Amino acid sequence: MRLDGEVVVVTGGARGIGLGIAEACADAGAAVAVADVDGDAAREAAAALAARGGPAAGLACDVTRAADVQRAVAEVARRLGRISGLVNNAGILLEGRAGDLGEDDWNRVLAVNLTGPWLCTRAALPQLADGGGAIVNVASIAGLAAQVNHVAYSVSKAGLLNLTRTVAVEYGRSGVRCNAVCPGTIDTELSRRYLAGFDDPDAMRAALVERAFVGRLGTPGDIGQAAVFLLSGASGFVNGAALVVDGGRTARLA
Ligand code: NDP
Repeated sequence: MRLDGEVVVVTGGARGIGLGIAEACADAGAAVAVADVDGDAAREAAAALAARGGPAAGLACDVTRAADVQRAVAEVARRLGRISGLVNNAGILLEGRAGDLGEDDWNRVLAVNLTGPWLCTRAALPQLADGGGAIVNVASIAGLAAQVNHVAYSVSKAGLLNLTRTVAVEYGRSGVRCNAVCPGTIDTELSRRYLAGFDDPDAMRAALVERAFVGRLGTPGDIGQAAVFLLSGASGFVNGAALVVDGGRTARLA
């Protein structure tokens, strides 16, 4: 579970789950690049990581823009060294059902949650394959089954799971493993915004805690530990897998 000498890029790493992953990777010994659409927040996060002891870099990068992604990947190599770990974490949630979601919202969710991870994977693969590496895609339990009123989000995360499997089989022999983590509800801005949409957010939050079976919502650190496992040699025979980290929510049939 150590990442000494590794260079890990975390997209959307300025806050929430991405920040939890960046912190866990830094604590495990990796040099960490925080790539976020908010460049100032990325640089602030990187400064805080550097204060914990290891090398870190913060970069502005919109994962939906191929040129941005290429530039960020080249910059990480220049500043920290060859990329050996990529965590595709950046993601957004726009709500709506199949019958009423607008086209712009559909396109935006697919662009950030699915095209973005593919663009980052494509850009980082030459470095990852040149000496070995691992990719972790932050999917969701919403990618494993339909989530009502989340059509674009669920579809994007299901697609991300099959991108994970495809990269795993296409590049496993080149020394690149690719796995996904499927979080349940994690306490972040994204889930707080989701809860705020209910008439009684506190009651909904309590219901989600009830469904998690461990008496709490997940934390960014919970996903950070899962990501460190999937990036590290401890998971050397794990490839193309989806690791569910949801407190047991999806273990229950009804
Ligand atoms: P947050 O909204 O709290 O954080 C997401 C981060 O990604 C923000 O820093 C955001 O920047 C950044 N980001 C958004 N769009 C882009 C982009 N185009 N390029 C680069 N960075 C971008 O979300 P979470 O931490 O909750 O979620 C992280 C991941 O985990 C997502 O993929 C989400 O789908 C997944 N997930 C979350 C769950 C939860 O319960 N929270 C459950 C299951 C999965 P900015 O704020 O400036 O837009």
